[in-house]
Amino acid sequence: MKFDIVTIFPRMVEAGLAEGVVGRAKERGTLDVVVHNLRDFTSDKHHVVDDMPFGGGPGMVLKPEPMFRAVEAIRETRGAPGAVVMTSPAGRPFTQDEARRLAACGHVVLLCGRYEGVDERVREHLATDEISIGDYVVSGGELPALVIVDAVARLIPGVVGDGQSVEEDSFTRGLLDYPHYTRPADFRGLTVPEVLMSGHHGEIRRWRRLQALRRTLERRPDLLESVTLDDDERDMLRTLVRARIDDETQRS
Ligand code: SAH
Repeated sequence: MKFDIVTIFPRMVEAGLAEGVVGRAKERGTLDVVVHNLRDFTSDKHHVVDDMPFGGGPGMVLKPEPMFRAVEAIRETRGAPGAVVMTSPAGRPFTQDEARRLAACGHVVLLCGRYEGVDERVREHLATDEISIGDYVVSGGELPALVIVDAVARLIPGVVGDGQSVEEDSFTRGLLDYPHYTRPADFRGLTVPEVLMSGHHGEIRRWRRLQALRRTLERRPDLLESVTLDDDERDMLRTLVRARIDDETQRS
């Protein structure tokens, strides 16, 4: 999987890519990530990347020419990308499905905005996608780009080691993850659910599925609308819903 990230703060992005799952995948060559300094694609002596907004108003706007030249250079040296993503609070919300779609692209370019944002012509004529990491504003596209690279990278075979599981992550199936415990079994009187120490794999699996369903029902019932459940899980869910209704009737 190839990523190219265009930013005015390459060191910030490099630092975010250096450690952990993504750092190891880069070292092994499973991920090929190149960070480009937007200033390298300016043509003036002072390497100016921003300018005042037409129409007035506060702040600065990233100019179109360096962004276009950066993507053109990437196209020449690294090949045609499957997607050119503009990070923006006005973009499509980033989800696990969106991560899967980008993972299938094979080569993704990410453009990091700063200041008031990026000249609209970049969004209209250079970017193929506009993605938001959530309904809040951060100061630049660097953290959003790192979030996107990390979530997409996890889906590439070999990036997450065998010891860890992407299969059971929250959202992989459209359900939230079940709770995890490790030693000690008794921490200051706080104990671990019996079943997890029973060695009974069938029961453990069942308990985990039940917990994942319970959490999703309690915290994100909206997710249940688009998830495919097997017969067993549908039964579990019905039982959970019934228990909740009973609870509520008792309380009222
Ligand atoms: N004035 C803009 C915000 C600019 S923030 C607005 O109100 O929409 C500067 C840059 O940070 C943006 O160009 C974008 O690249 C990045 N950014 C900020 N919040 C983001 C978010 N929630 N998702 C993705 N990118 C974001």
